[in-house]
Amino acid sequence: MSEIRKAAIRVGDVVETRKKHPCGSSQWEVTRTGADIKMKCLGCGRLVMLDRETFLKRRKKIITEGPLPEAPDMTYYAPAADPGESLNAYVTPDAP
Ligand SMILES: [Zn+2]
Repeated sequence: MSEIRKAAIRVGDVVETRKKHPCGSSQWEVTRTGADIKMKCLGCGRLVMLDRETFLKRRKKIITEGPLPEAPDMTYYAPAADPGESLNAYVTPDAP
């Protein structure tokens, strides 16, 4: 698995966080990606929103990978842009 793959965040990913949610679960499902990551607690169903950096810090491991998008990793760099924009973003990735 490449470094880029490791940094990828996909809708449908089930991840484990370093700290448990107060409900006792430490597993979350990613429901939206972009500038902010939205994830749902699998224990109580609560939705939280984190910025990408915080999400990556809290994520301990990926339990289940979500389905690969048509262009893998491209959505990571340019989640909501038009096709021209994504292409440019892909050529000069701004990975952390
Ligand atoms: Zn919870």
